[in-house]
Amino acid sequence: MPYLVRMLFWGLLVCFAGLMLSPEPLLAQAKTKRSKKDAAPSGVADYQSKNFMVRTDLPPDEAKDLLKRLETMLGLIEKYFEHKLNSPIGMIVVKDLKAWPREVVSQFDRNGLRSIEDGGGLTIGQTLQSNATGQVLDAKAVVYAVADRGTPQHEAVHAYCVLSFGRTGPTWYSEGMAEIGQYWTDKGQGVHCHDIVMKFLKSQDPKELTEIVDVADSTGDSWENYAWRWVLCHMLANNPNYAPRFKPLGLGLLNGKDVTFQSVYGAMAKEINFEYQFFLRHIDQGFRADLCAWDWKAKYPPCKGSTAFTAKVDANKGWQPSRISVEADQSYDFSSSGTWKTSSAGQAVDAEGGDEGVGRLVGIIFDDYKLSEPFNLGAYGSFKPPQSGNLMLRCEDKWNELADNSGKLQVRLKLTGKGNPLPMPETKPSGRETPAKSSKTPVNQ
Ligand SMILES: [Zn+2]
Repeated sequence: MPYLVRMLFWGLLVCFAGLMLSPEPLLAQAKTKRSKKDAAPSGVADYQSKNFMVRTDLPPDEAKDLLKRLETMLGLIEKYFEHKLNSPIGMIVVKDLKAWPREVVSQFDRNGLRSIEDGGGLTIGQTLQSNATGQVLDAKAVVYAVADRGTPQHEAVHAYCVLSFGRTGPTWYSEGMAEIGQYWTDKGQGVHCHDIVMKFLKSQDPKELTEIVDVADSTGDSWENYAWRWVLCHMLANNPNYAPRFKPLGLGLLNGKDVTFQSVYGAMAKEINFEYQFFLRHIDQGFRADLCAWDWKAKYPPCKGSTAFTAKVDANKGWQPSRISVEADQSYDFSSSGTWKTSSAGQAVDAEGGDEGVGRLVGIIFDDYKLSEPFNLGAYGSFKPPQSGNLMLRCEDKWNELADNSGKLQVRLKLTGKGNPLPMPETKPSGRETPAKSSKTPVNQ
C-alpha cells in the first residue's frame, strides 16, 4: 500500500478523538445545490459561495450573511497563512434541530449530531498521507455546527487547516487559532470577543503559560480553557515582539515540523510572561496588543549629573521608554512640549491633559519585570519616583481607546538642582509659572 489513510477529528466543546468516520456522503449531499425555491417546507436549504457549501435552517438572509462572514474570515486566514483553500468546505449549520426533517437528520454523522445537540460543533477531517514522506496528498473536511456564538467560523478554521495542511496542530494552537477565526472580522486587530469570555478573563488570575500550552490537553475540554488559548494566540499573533515568530511556529506545527512553543519562545519567557500578564490586566474590547507592545530594546542609562535627557512619547501607544533610569530617593525635573489628542474629534491638549486627566503625561517605573503604581506628571514640574528603575511614559487614556489618539510630546528630564533649569514648555498654558507638584488624581493602570 503506497499510502496511509489517517482520520483526524476536532470538536469545539466535545472531544471525539479516535473515531473512524467517513465524511464522504455528507460532502456529496452538501454539493447538491438547491435554489431558494427548492427549499424544503422545513426551511432547510443549501447555500453556496466560492469556498463554502452550507446546508442550514437559518432564514435565507441570515444564511447569506453567514456565508459572507465565512468568506471574509477565510480571506483573512488565507492572507495570514499565505495559502489558498483548494477545495470547498461543506457545512451543516443548525439553528433549530427540530426544524430539520427526520430523514435529513438521520443522514448526519452521529458524532456531528451529538455535538450539535450539545450546542457546539465538530469538524470531521480526512487526510490521505504518503507513507514514505508523510506529505498530505488529499484532504476532506465537513463541519457540523450550531448557528450561534461563532461556532461555524471556529469550525471553519479547523476545516481550512485540515484541507490546507492536513492537520490542525496541538490543542493550544488549533483551538486558539480557531477562536481567533471566530472573532476574525475585517474591522481591525483590536480585541473582540464574547462578553462572557471578557467577563471571565477579567475575573481570573492569569493561567500559567506552561499550563495553556500543555501538550496533554485535549480539545473539547471547557470553554474557559478555550478562552486562555485564544488570549495567548491573540497576543502572540498581534504583538510585534512575538508575531514574527508566531507565524513560522504555526506553519511548522501545521506542517508537522519538530517545533514547540517552548523551542521558539523559551529564550523570551520572561518578556512573554510580563506582556501576557500586562495584556490580561488591561484587556477590554478594542484593546490593541500591537500598540501596547513593550520596547525591550530600549536602553536606560541613569539620569545623573547635569545632563538633560529627551524622551519622545506617542499619544497612541502604551508605556514607552523614557530611556533613563531613576532612583527612588531623588527628585527629577521634567518639561514637556507639544500637544496631542485622545480622540480624532477631540481638542488637542498639552501634557497637562484635559477633563479628568485624560491626555495627561503619566509615568511608571519598570524594574525586574515588575511595575510600580503609575504616577502623574504633566507639562512642567518635578517628581520623586515611587521606586528605582526604568522610567516609562504614556498619554493617560483608556487602555482600549488608544488607537484614535494622535500627536506626540517631547519630554525633557533631568536631576533636580543640577545644571541649567529646564525651559518652560512652549505650549505653556496660562497661569503656570513655577514647577507644579504632581497632582493626586488617580491614574488608570
Ligand atoms: Zn475547535
